[in-house]
Amino acid sequence: MSAPTPDAPVTLSIVIPMFNEEDVLPLLVERLRPIADGLGTAYEIVAVDDGSSDATPLVLERLRRDWPQLRVLRLRANAGHQAAISAGLDRARGDYVVTLDADLQDPPEVIPEMLRIAREDGVDVVYGVREDRSSDTAFKRGSARVFYRLIRKVSDIDAHVDAGDYRLMSRATVDAVNSLPESGRVLRFVVPALGFPSGTVGYAREERAAGTSKYPLSKMLRLSVDSVTGFSLAPLRFATWLGLLGGLASLCVLAYALIARLLDHALPGWTSTVVIVSAVGAVQLLALGILGEYVGRMYAAMQARPSYFIAHDSLEKGRRPDGAT
Ligand code: UDP
Ligand code: MG
Repeated sequence: MSAPTPDAPVTLSIVIPMFNEEDVLPLLVERLRPIADGLGTAYEIVAVDDGSSDATPLVLERLRRDWPQLRVLRLRANAGHQAAISAGLDRARGDYVVTLDADLQDPPEVIPEMLRIAREDGVDVVYGVREDRSSDTAFKRGSARVFYRLIRKVSDIDAHVDAGDYRLMSRATVDAVNSLPESGRVLRFVVPALGFPSGTVGYAREERAAGTSKYPLSKMLRLSVDSVTGFSLAPLRFATWLGLLGGLASLCVLAYALIARLLDHALPGWTSTVVIVSAVGAVQLLALGILGEYVGRMYAAMQARPSYFIAHDSLEKGRRPDGAT
């Protein structure tokens, strides 16, 4: 297939976010390329370099030399997994778009099957569903379970428990996702919430091909908080109830203290005072924290600041007036 031009039609875009994945890239290309070439249709690979600080940009540049369909989108700074996928979705040109992690945990061999299901069953989204997660750590599996249960409970979203960010989306779905301006959106819940007809394809989750996880606990926690606050007001209501209960409890204690005083019993002890003050303080702090999360989201929405900045897009090379790449 010839080198893609910016205006050539593309049937399938494969968006791959990557952050410091120099070790994985050659392995990824080795497995992905035969599959992509075997699709028998025009495709592009949108490698989103999420502000890597290792040799990822250099490796990509080298790989691009003999893989014309490989397009490189470099973000100016590390924007995070979800924002990197969003950048790729915004720029992808395909009639269908697959999002895939770089580390080969989600086998690219499933892509032709996803495309077939989308076309034959006429669905807009095909979710990759992990049927075998034995390669994930027990902690990851356990936390994922709790997390999805929680989201299902507090929102109306019917997200598949074992679906991550490996999925195929139609152009209509991608356009719908791109039209949502919210920052901190978590795609694995946004996409099912859109309600397009969908199908699934099962696969066994593999070990990371090389390198280490780019998802430290801090990023996992961020993702969880964004997921819950993005889809549910339940924590706010929970905060209200907690505040109410805490307030009632302290009222009771107050009444008790007053009665004890009137009946000339011993002075209320120091301990109970401390307990009450700290209990009320704890409830207030928790409620404030939850409020803060939503206020933060509102602030971010008001600023309407993009969640990523593109440094360059290899497709636009040579088109830019300043000649920068
Ligand atoms: N990733 C990214 N930006 C980040 C963190 C991760 O683009 O800030 C990419 C990473 O390179 C990989 C994918 O997101 O392609 C999933 O990350 P990882 O495999 O490290 O997460 P895990 O599978 O351990 O949850
Ligand atoms: Mg991974």
